Amino acid sequence: MSKQMPALFIGHGSPMNAIEDNEYSNIWSEISKQIAKPEAILSVSAHWFTRGSKITDSPKPNVVYDMYGFPDALYNVIYQPDGAPNLAHEAISLIGSKVDVDNSWGIDHGTWSVLCRMYPEADVPVFQLSVDANASAETHFRIGQEIASLRNKGVMIFGSGNVVHNLSRVSWDMDGGYPWATEFDNYIKEKILSGEYDDVINYDRAGPSRKLAFHTPDHFNPLLYVLGASNKNDKLTVFNDSCTLGSLSMTSYLFE
Ligand code: ZN
Repeated sequence: MSKQMPALFIGHGSPMNAIEDNEYSNIWSEISKQIAKPEAILSVSAHWFTRGSKITDSPKPNVVYDMYGFPDALYNVIYQPDGAPNLAHEAISLIGSKVDVDNSWGIDHGTWSVLCRMYPEADVPVFQLSVDANASAETHFRIGQEIASLRNKGVMIFGSGNVVHNLSRVSWDMDGGYPWATEFDNYIKEKILSGEYDDVINYDRAGPSRKLAFHTPDHFNPLLYVLGASNKNDKLTVFNDSCTLGSLSMTSYLFE
């Protein structure tokens, strides 16, 4: 039986992490050397927030530079892995709700800003699944459960977002997080560590800190796919466990 691939949620933060050596991006580089190398990666990126679920099945997915106002060096990053059409079709067959093939999008910066540090050779095929803006938190978690078996077929389930993501409150010269950001981030971490996923799905139970943590759940929901794809036998490692720029959390979860 082949080795089970990890389920990994990364707090991606600023796109600049793609080209800056810092405490976060350095750990992304390190962690990829410590885990089993997948044969393909199914990425659920916060930056593909759609009406209905979409998936890419192109053998050569587009690379999307979906960020604005950053230095040229960031737009010069070329990260062009192959796609994985057969695995994309398998994912569609596993997911109980409707998923449409859509190759108008591609590998966006939620995916490549992290994977270019983890697998700089771009030698692992990548396909993306969107975050359906109309779906409930329960649905996102359930889809994660439905695609979990891909982990036994060489596929890493990869979620890229941020547990706390409030751009209207970003403070570019701030190191840590506002108290409410740290409070919500810690609340979610404790619930994950104790396996109380129902409280993660029903995140409003966190109280007032939740309302400040994000206005729309696009960056939070990729975490639910990874939790859904995890199982009781996984070892959990929490890393980059901190907030930055006031209102972003970089906290990341590895299940393997
Ligand atoms: Zn983002």
